Amino acid sequence: MSDRILIVGGGFSGAMLAARLAEAGTAVSLINRDDRFGLGVAYGAAEPWHLLNVRSARMSAVADRPDDFVRWLEAHAPGHADPEGFAPRAVYGRYVQDRLAAARAAAADRLETLTGEVVGLDPAGAVTLADGRRLSGRAVVLATGNPPPRTAAPGDTGSAAGVIPDAWAPGALDGIRPQDDILLVGTGLTMVDVLMTLERRGWIGRAVAVSRRGLRPRAHGPRPDPKLDAPLPDHPRLSQRLAAARAAAGDGGWRSLMELYRPVTADLWATLDPEGQRRLLRHLRPWWDVHRHRLAPEVAARIDALVAADRLQILAGRIGRPRPAAGRLELSWRPRGQTGEGRLVGDRLIDCSGPGHAPQDDPLTGPLLAAGAARLHPNGLGLDLAPDGRILAADGRPQPGLFVLGPPARAAFWETIAVPDIRDRIAALAGTLAPH
Ligand SMILES: Cc1cc2nc3c(=O)[nH]c(=O)nc-3n(C[C@H](O)[C@H](O)[C@H](O)COP(=O)(O)OP(=O)(O)OC[C@H]3O[C@@H](n4cnc5c(N)ncnc54)[C@H](O)[C@@H]3O)c2cc1C
Repeated sequence: MSDRILIVGGGFSGAMLAARLAEAGTAVSLINRDDRFGLGVAYGAAEPWHLLNVRSARMSAVADRPDDFVRWLEAHAPGHADPEGFAPRAVYGRYVQDRLAAARAAAADRLETLTGEVVGLDPAGAVTLADGRRLSGRAVVLATGNPPPRTAAPGDTGSAAGVIPDAWAPGALDGIRPQDDILLVGTGLTMVDVLMTLERRGWIGRAVAVSRRGLRPRAHGPRPDPKLDAPLPDHPRLSQRLAAARAAAGDGGWRSLMELYRPVTADLWATLDPEGQRRLLRHLRPWWDVHRHRLAPEVAARIDALVAADRLQILAGRIGRPRPAAGRLELSWRPRGQTGEGRLVGDRLIDCSGPGHAPQDDPLTGPLLAAGAARLHPNGLGLDLAPDGRILAADGRPQPGLFVLGPPARAAFWETIAVPDIRDRIAALAGTLAPH
């Protein structure tokens, strides 16, 4: 068996883990389905007007060098070097690629990049690529990232004419005409990105966006919020904790409160039993998401302007299957809390419901689950993992050489989606994977 670590997925998570391992003396093969290593959806499909939703000062890719990104900006993109600003995501992609290139230059014999689709996974530490190549190593890390949406509308919306099932697919928005009326399923960050792109491309139509609760991401303040000088609300019951958090947010500002939670969210998540996690997801998640994953103020202002100009309407309710109607698309819609049905009509429908994590349907993890080599977490968010990121088999035993990193690890760690959280997991995983 080779002593290499095999990393499946070369987005931010895989690339920065590979760099860290290689720099620490570990041989690693980084495998990505295309040759755009380090980018993934977040930084690869970004247009110049797509900004990071985290301040630059918090976006270092390296856990123990907090100012790494800002230093890089000063040297390579000085116009964006404000630590409290929100740099373009495409610039961030260049930074990640630079970090990867530096690691390769320093450790070329240890860091190998391979382009290809991984189609098979052996828990013993081997992967098979679509072209038949088979690689084996000491451990495999699944860093496969954000899958495309699983369509949010019931039925096979992807096949209806005018439906765009994945806003991030290359060229997905190209066919939209300036005056088209758009239906958006989902009112979160993808909706915002889509509207920003359409506007920049000269779109002048109207949009209606629907989600269960009709909540949209809140904005960052113009400058970082003052640190809340208070202990975290701590009560045995979730409902009491929530009430105390509301009171603390009232006193100190909700953004400051979210910052107080941020470094300890994963630990708090781990202290909840699966039922507590499910309750939190059921009742609090939509609110958590819009307060936690915020918009750069300038982006939020553009969305406000669309609403004020009556070009964007955000609705709460449930939608049905889209149907063709007189050359357009029609969507049945039941407003939240009401029984009657309405209908929404547009020229295009774009699925903005976000990544559709479903390990049971994934070509790599589906067979593992079917064979009992993996199991689903009882909270319903994804794979069940040990605290070090190892996949747990059906009998609860950790697979010795099979790890998950990044968004697909969310059932176990919850906050493992954004860079500040992923880089901490990278540091921890690199420690686990270092040769003994
Ligand atoms: C649009 C968008 C904007 C975001 N903006 C921010 C932000 O501003 N700040 C922030 O902190 N976070 C942001 N995020 C969160 C984002 O999840 C992380 O920042 C980070 O990019 C996740 O990287 P990843 O490598 O885990 O996943 P991904 O970026 O999804 O990369 C996974 C990679 O694995 C590859 N892959 C998957 N399956 C296979 C296979 N079978 N074989 C070979 N290759 C495979 C994919 O092609 C892809 O390249 C954003 C996310 C999105 C979607």
